[in-house]
Amino acid sequence: MSVAGPVELTTPIASIPGVRKEHAERLARIGVPNVGHLIAHLPHRHEWVRAEAGIAEIAAESITSVRGEVSATRMTGFGKKARFQAVLMDGTGRLDLVWFNQPYLKGRIHPGMRLRVQGKAARYGLGLQMVNPKFEVLDPTETEPDKADSDELRPVYPVTEGLTSEQVRAIVGRVLDAALPLIEDHLPEDLRRERSMPSLRDAYRMMHRPASDEEVKAARRRLAYDELLLFQLGVHMKRAHLRQTMKAPALERTDAIEARIRERMPFELTDAQKRVVGEIASDLAQDVPMNRLVQGDVGSGKTVVALDAMLRAIAHGHQAALMAPTEILAEQHFLSISAMLEGSSVRVALLTGNLGAEERARVLAGLADGSVDLVVGTHALIGEQVGFRSLAVVVIDEQHRFGVEQRAKLRVKGSVADTGAGAFDTPHVLVMTATPIPRTIGLTLFGDLDISTIDALPPGRTPVTTRTVTSERRGEVYQWVRTRLDAGDQAYVVVPAIDTGASSGEDELRDLRTVQAELEAGELRDKRIAALHGRLKRETREHIMARFRAGSIDVLIATTVIEVGVDVPNATVIVIEHADRFGLAQLHQLRGRVGRGNKPGACVLIADPKTDDAIERLKVMVETTSGFDLAERDFAIRGPGDVFGTRQSGVPPFRIADPVKDTALLDFARRDAAAWIALNPTLAGADDALVRRRLIRVHGPWLGLGDVG
Ligand code: ADP
Ligand code: MG
Repeated sequence: MSVAGPVELTTPIASIPGVRKEHAERLARIGVPNVGHLIAHLPHRHEWVRAEAGIAEIAAESITSVRGEVSATRMTGFGKKARFQAVLMDGTGRLDLVWFNQPYLKGRIHPGMRLRVQGKAARYGLGLQMVNPKFEVLDPTETEPDKADSDELRPVYPVTEGLTSEQVRAIVGRVLDAALPLIEDHLPEDLRRERSMPSLRDAYRMMHRPASDEEVKAARRRLAYDELLLFQLGVHMKRAHLRQTMKAPALERTDAIEARIRERMPFELTDAQKRVVGEIASDLAQDVPMNRLVQGDVGSGKTVVALDAMLRAIAHGHQAALMAPTEILAEQHFLSISAMLEGSSVRVALLTGNLGAEERARVLAGLADGSVDLVVGTHALIGEQVGFRSLAVVVIDEQHRFGVEQRAKLRVKGSVADTGAGAFDTPHVLVMTATPIPRTIGLTLFGDLDISTIDALPPGRTPVTTRTVTSERRGEVYQWVRTRLDAGDQAYVVVPAIDTGASSGEDELRDLRTVQAELEAGELRDKRIAALHGRLKRETREHIMARFRAGSIDVLIATTVIEVGVDVPNATVIVIEHADRFGLAQLHQLRGRVGRGNKPGACVLIADPKTDDAIERLKVMVETTSGFDLAERDFAIRGPGDVFGTRQSGVPPFRIADPVKDTALLDFARRDAAAWIALNPTLAGADDALVRRRLIRVHGPWLGLGDVG
């Protein structure tokens, strides 16, 4: 059954003898155009297929597989009581099949059809019966799959419409023996032995044609290690490249500068803030480009830490930029930083997407000629026309909201021009996040970042109390909110949407307009209520935020535009409508809007959760106020696939490895990669050519490795 002619990894599937054109097309559609891709198209699981018997040979009470023709079908009962029966004949005997509660089978199984079924047969009376067997329809236009003579571990492949796992298995079977010898291993022999890994060739064979469960395990281990190793090699290579070939300006620490910065701080920094400021300052004092992550829970005071770093650039005659993920947050940073720098010589500007043409031109000119020292903005900062005279420090706030490419772009903005303040290649980069990376994997996965942690809150904070209530009790909630407003506090009410068009079919979704109308007419009648969302014009939004900050609005009804960063200490209550619709990280961020001053904060989650996940998320919110614990539990609920699988987090998804469960492998991969890159930082040379090629293919784009070496 193997191919006769020479097979290459680049041979198109369609050229494999015996493969039908439409199967080749369907494989191409799911990203498998040629033999090499086919070998890399791994089964997502394996299944024991029992040796097939004739019906007459079936032993009762053991799991068996048989094939035969359906001679009759019958449907009785309805709904949960539905019972679908079929009679299977194979020339040696008769087997009765019964499926409970699967009425749709009536449309799938018909007399005359050939089936292969697997299940446990039982005698009843004189007959033989299988209840709820697994079944597979044998396609009359295909040659029937081989009978398994003995129990066999079969791969189950990812498929698409019109292509079954069995068909993929047959195609793999045609080329596997010819293709395996063509697979070269990128892992040095001694490393492979040290880690007790099978060769790549063996690993692929064991995935596609395993002899045992142990082989599947060994193969999986090797391929998962490979994924983690390539990733770690990329991370370490990038770090080595940055540190060895790029120069950032050395911003020396002097007593005068320290004193001037301290003067600008409106409060005494906490010990945690002081420690992190110190770590950053000593990075900045060197010409090795800083690449540091500051993680600190919501409200821990990251903004002043960022300001401190930026002022160090400005003190040395350079510029600094702070990029925030939303306009509201950029505007707020601009206001609070301007306030802290009032009366100083530092010139601060705001650059967002909706500046007027004239204002925008003025800001751009100021960045280019150096008359703006510090710019706060959104991703408008990485726009093409934006150029700096001498950008030395870049801060990215809420970094998890940006992709890696966006971060890389801002780094590129700080480039070479000799400004008299000294030439350099790249700015120092500080990224900040309140969505901590779980301790268990943080350092390992983000090997290219140094990490500082603000692990304490400013003095006087009391933890926010969190409660969940069902929507029936909404009235009581707002009654209670009213008492807090009467006492002089302010509140946020968060809704998932501005308006739900009539067509959305989400009748029970309470949108911003509905909630606002109800509150204005009901519980919060005579209170000052305003709505804030992303569709408002900037001036309107700024105006509303300014009034809320000044205390002349009592209640802000908002969409998640307030999710990150918004800081109004007198707002102590947040009510989140339809809380089950938000993710855990998002709920925690929203909750972080309160409890930011000296008054205790309260968070009320209104929800009628329907799924187990949603129930679990709400439970975690009530039980945990620490962002770190919460991130770990979020990981446990969603898995790294969701947390890391998104482009937003900037980490490419792993297909096989699971960075949370495969911690031992991850640890090997990290150590092996570090040692490898220490020996050969650019993986130059013939020995490493293969691994380098594979690395660049998988991780080149996101790591920005295209320009390496
Ligand atoms: P986040 O870490 O969430 O970005 P912010 O930087 O917005 O936190 O700070 C939260 C609030 O705490 C702000 O009102 C800020 O002025 C205040 N704050 C920060 N550091 C201190 C401190 N050391 N002492 C008192 N208040 C502080
Ligand atoms: Mg912040």
